[in-house]
Amino acid sequence: MQAFWQSKSLTQLSPQEWDQLCDRCGKCCLQKLEDEQTGEIYYTDVACRYLNLDNCFCGVYKERLEKVDACVNLSPQDLKAIDWLPDTCAYKLRYYEQPLPAWHHLVSGSMQTIHQQKMSVAKRVVSEDNVGPDLEERIIHWVD
Ligand code: SF4
Ligand code: SF4
Repeated sequence: MQAFWQSKSLTQLSPQEWDQLCDRCGKCCLQKLEDEQTGEIYYTDVACRYLNLDNCFCGVYKERLEKVDACVNLSPQDLKAIDWLPDTCAYKLRYYEQPLPAWHHLVSGSMQTIHQQKMSVAKRVVSEDNVGPDLEERIIHWVD
């Protein structure tokens, strides 16, 4: 029998299944810069102040949209238009009908695998509360 994420499209997922699909990589909670001329997006190692830097859970999940203007409530309809999600994002993978990677908790059975395989930002980034204003100095190239 196929798992729910294999047998259902994104639009068929229940709210609980939708939440379970998120790999908690934390990459989408990093501040980003956009090149005005090329439109290219650059990730920085500066995280939203509400991201738990050890396990990449959001500390204000239920109120996140009120607390952080830039925070996005992802939906299946958004996925084509949003160009800044990392290629590893589970929603993006499923939108393009790709399998989940072996380190995803729905495959490995453990929420720790993603951190052990260094596929999350856990322990690799800093809070926006602890850095200066020059984000260009904080651009990183290890988010894919
Ligand atoms: S509010 Fe939560 S989900 Fe939104 S960017 Fe911050 S840590 Fe991420
Ligand atoms: S990039 Fe995608 S899978 Fe990773 S935390 Fe953000 S929404 Fe979840």
